Amino acid sequence: MSRSAASRWGEPWQYGAQAPEVEERLALLAEASRVLADVSLEPPAVMERLCELVVPLLGAACALRLMSEDGRWLRTVASASATPETRLLFQSLVAPVLRADEGPSAEVLRSGQALWVPRLEVEELRRLVPPQHHGLLERIPFTRSLVLPLRARGRGLGTLTVWREPAAAPFEAGEQLLLQELADRAALALDVARLYAAERRARQSAEVAAGRLARLQRVTAELSQVLTAPRVAEVVVDQGVEAVGARGGGFWLVEPGDGQARLLRCTGEDARMLSGVFSAVPLEQCSPITESIREARPVWLETPDALVQHFPELAARCRMAQGNAAPSSVCLPLSVDGRALGTLLFTFSEPRVFDDDERAFLELLAHHAAQALARARLLEQEQRARAALREAHQTLAAIIQASPAAIMLVDMDGTVRLWNPAAERMFGWTADEVLGQVLPGVPESRREEFHRDLEGVAQGRVLSGAETVRQHRDGTPIQVAQWTARVCPPGGPAQCLGIVVDVTERQRSEDAQRFLAGAGGVLAASLEQEQTLKHVAHLAVPEYAETCGVFLSEETGEVRCVATADADDAVPRVIPVPGLDVVSQVIASGEPALHTGQEEDTAGTCAWLCVPLQVRGQAFGALTFVTSRRHYDARDLELAQELARRAALALDNARLYREARQAIRLREEFLSIASHELKTPISALQLQVQTLQAALTRSPSGIPAPRLQRSLDVVERQLKRQTQLVNELLDVSRISAGRLDLCLESLDLGALVREVAERFEPELARTGTPLELVLAPGALGRWDRLRLDQVLTNLLSNAVKYGRSQPVHVELTTTDTCVRVAVRDEGIGIAAEHLSRLFHRFERAVSERNYGGFGLGLWIARQMVEAMGGSIAVSSNLGVGSTFTVELPRTRAEG
Ligand code: ADP
Repeated sequence: MSRSAASRWGEPWQYGAQAPEVEERLALLAEASRVLADVSLEPPAVMERLCELVVPLLGAACALRLMSEDGRWLRTVASASATPETRLLFQSLVAPVLRADEGPSAEVLRSGQALWVPRLEVEELRRLVPPQHHGLLERIPFTRSLVLPLRARGRGLGTLTVWREPAAAPFEAGEQLLLQELADRAALALDVARLYAAERRARQSAEVAAGRLARLQRVTAELSQVLTAPRVAEVVVDQGVEAVGARGGGFWLVEPGDGQARLLRCTGEDARMLSGVFSAVPLEQCSPITESIREARPVWLETPDALVQHFPELAARCRMAQGNAAPSSVCLPLSVDGRALGTLLFTFSEPRVFDDDERAFLELLAHHAAQALARARLLEQEQRARAALREAHQTLAAIIQASPAAIMLVDMDGTVRLWNPAAERMFGWTADEVLGQVLPGVPESRREEFHRDLEGVAQGRVLSGAETVRQHRDGTPIQVAQWTARVCPPGGPAQCLGIVVDVTERQRSEDAQRFLAGAGGVLAASLEQEQTLKHVAHLAVPEYAETCGVFLSEETGEVRCVATADADDAVPRVIPVPGLDVVSQVIASGEPALHTGQEEDTAGTCAWLCVPLQVRGQAFGALTFVTSRRHYDARDLELAQELARRAALALDNARLYREARQAIRLREEFLSIASHELKTPISALQLQVQTLQAALTRSPSGIPAPRLQRSLDVVERQLKRQTQLVNELLDVSRISAGRLDLCLESLDLGALVREVAERFEPELARTGTPLELVLAPGALGRWDRLRLDQVLTNLLSNAVKYGRSQPVHVELTTTDTCVRVAVRDEGIGIAAEHLSRLFHRFERAVSERNYGGFGLGLWIARQMVEAMGGSIAVSSNLGVGSTFTVELPRTRAEG
């Protein structure tokens, strides 16, 4: 109560003793207005002051009750009692909460009118106060009261109850009006205070919401920058803990296909426990983490008991790990499209009731985190896809670069868009030169075909290994096989992919195989040399050469062109290019020669090849190929060599065949000669025997000695002749069997020549042949006496035999290392064409009718001379005479 009011009313003033006057009532109302308007006071204090204004002026006690927000209860918020001793009693009397829907209060609130409650039973009051106050209740029974409504804006906010002692006067109308005025003013003030409080609360919660929003915006802004899941975890946990005022936080992620939630980030007080116990949580485990993920809904644990109650095992594990689980926590699923990718945990230091705003805020935070996570995942997927695409591109580019086949991409009008290194190599144009240009390398004659093919590709027809001809930059034709396909790049017109393989070499080798197979057949067709030579010459014409020449080397070393073939000219050139010098060199060296025709040539560009004809490592001839139509290269040379190998075999076969036939002819000739030769001495002997027998019959006394001597001479000569023939045959078989053993000794060849010559004296005399010996002295050496005797005998007997009784000259000369015997006659001589084969078996240069003999003597002589390391040679002129020369080393070289 204010002092001014108190002084005015005075201490002894009692209600009822004297009803307040009008000005006192106005003063009371003014005081009440002042108290109610005092903004420095809190509403409960205002109510207390109001009650104090009422008591004791208008009643012995008063109580102000306000209705609960839900309108069901009335609670006492202020009370006053006139005397200190009754205050406690009164307080306990009005303390109980009243139901708002029964009793006088309900009536007052419903009607909005004050209600006079004249009498309350003491017994009834007794129930309301503690026993210790029952005595007081006897003295001051609050049995009469006036209940007034607290009215504001047409609503009842509560009641003001004023009691009077039983003895006091009842409330007069003025007092009641005054009290109602006070009650209304109090209600108005309360209403204003409530509105103000409500407005302040609204402002506060708006501030809280704005604060949260700001924090959320910060987190969201940061999340929008984040590109990876770990970074999302970091931002949302670190920022989130601060934003929601948590003591710790954690972030678990479930990778697709993984049966566990893995901890990506944790922070705060629980970090150690979380990373220790919950770094990987199997999804089937029972925990708020997994439950929030499995069910995609938040798991709120507002008290420590909630954890124990719902997840007892987990609570036990937390206790074991660290001792105290957080008093409250929430696991928020990171859901995208109804599926949780992980969960976000916040732990709090206090038990906490999450109100709707808070829940909404936390769920929004989790939602943003989930979105960021989904974005990060998409980004990762996209990055992976991009990387895979890049890799695929690179691989494809590498394949195209490394491809041995030419790969090209052309527009349907033939403009080149891709040209790989193999294409550069194959056609000779670089990518820079052809990209954007019309495809080069298509010969004029193939242009139409090329455009037809392109049209076909545009219509979906493809080429698969089709063979055609293209052209190198230098004009060389290229045999190719090509594959095509239509490709449709996204957003562009269809193009033609071409893969081209150079099959020139394959074609050439197939052609070569075919050619060689054909050549084999042609070469095998005849064994006649002449025929074979003609075939050989014509094999490569005109396919590989315009002109072909076949050259053979004579025994004399002379090289002759024996056959030619010419594509254009019916009359073959005598000696085709490259001429005898080159051919001779090729035969001598056994190495082929190639003139590709690419080099500048004064006589026009002309390519030629010369390859040796070889058998058993010995070159006996050569083939030449000439063309002016193209270049020759290594492959042509290879083919020519292969052809030459086959031709050489065919020629060798023809030669062997000819020699075999010759041998057969010789053998037959020999047999007839041999039978004749062997028979001749026997016939002579027979004749002598018969002559002697006839003479003996005619003159039994005896045959005259001269006559007998003549016959015996003939017999001896024939026997010698017979022996010589048989010995020759024996020598042949010995030599052929390789059993010609030499018996070397030191000899004087001059002495031996003289000895043999002496043996020939009767023969020389008989035939009237003069013999001249010119013998150098000292013709010493180590030789086989008997074999040399045989050689000299043969040469002398031939000189006498074919010498036409003309003089025979034997000359012996010496050098330091060798000796030489020349037997020269002036007889029939030998035709040049026979000279080379005289020293062969059975070879003879005369007819057996005119001259006897096996044709073996010279062959045997050669074998023997050569066995002693020497040589034998002949020079002769037909009808002039012959000279046979034997040269012997003084000592036979070893080996
Ligand atoms: P033959 O027993 O037939 O004489 P050779 O081997 O001694 O056999 O001689 C071979 C051939 O060489 C003879 O048939 C002959 O034609 C020829 N011939 C050898 N020596 C002479 C010579 N001095 N003058 C001419 N021809 C000769």
